[in-house]
Amino acid sequence: MSFKKYLKEQLAFLYYNFYHKHTTQIGNRILIYHAIGSKLAHDSYGISITKERFLEHMQFLKEQYTIIALDEHYEDKLDTNTLCITFDDGYKDNLYALEVCQMYGIPFTLYITTGTIGQKDYLNAQDIRLFAKSSICTLGTHGATHTRLAMLSYEKQEDELRKSKQTLEDIIGKKVLHVSYPHGSYNADTIDLIGKIGYNIASSSHIGFNTKENVDLRRLKRIEIIASDDIQNLERKILGYYDYLAFKEKNLTEHKS
Ligand SMILES: [Zn+2]
Repeated sequence: MSFKKYLKEQLAFLYYNFYHKHTTQIGNRILIYHAIGSKLAHDSYGISITKERFLEHMQFLKEQYTIIALDEHYEDKLDTNTLCITFDDGYKDNLYALEVCQMYGIPFTLYITTGTIGQKDYLNAQDIRLFAKSSICTLGTHGATHTRLAMLSYEKQEDELRKSKQTLEDIIGKKVLHVSYPHGSYNADTIDLIGKIGYNIASSSHIGFNTKENVDLRRLKRIEIIASDDIQNLERKILGYYDYLAFKEKNLTEHKS
């Protein structure tokens, strides 16, 4: 283990056991998955987790938590402790996730980068219609080109958000109301645009817990699950061990804007 990782884990342990554990928050935790089982050329971080581990995670989550759909009624469901499952990017191997989640009756939201639809390692239009047909799946966009939105002009952002919405709607024949920000990147223009374009709910990559008091439907907090997350670490992420990282993030966001 690298020293950085060791330090991160020590801080997480201290933060959770001496502070977070003693706060009584009721609300929803959203998990982010990406690929399952595929060896991706650009994956140096571990965004592709093995099929075995994914199955193990879903079995564990189904047994231990109440998993709810991240849909239009999300805000009304924050008075109990719940969990949401999301997938970013739209990898081909998410068909396996559909199979597993269908088997266990686990609702999930899939955010698709529309520019990569049909490319190697990514879902094609026919696959996407399978997800759209399933009652457990909610579909959303994840940009057209997976560009960091905060780096783009207002016009270019509008283009990304509109085009991706239109493309996905054309494929599934239904309105698309959900979006997640590529790389978690957004700024004040993005927030302005999503309402204007007709998105109802947007997911960010800010780490944290969504409660009735803090919920922001234009930047829902989520936490990423990666290949090295065994059941113990998955549980720690849900419990809030890593929520201290939000303090660091906040400073970064403020610095950027
Ligand atoms: Zn992404």
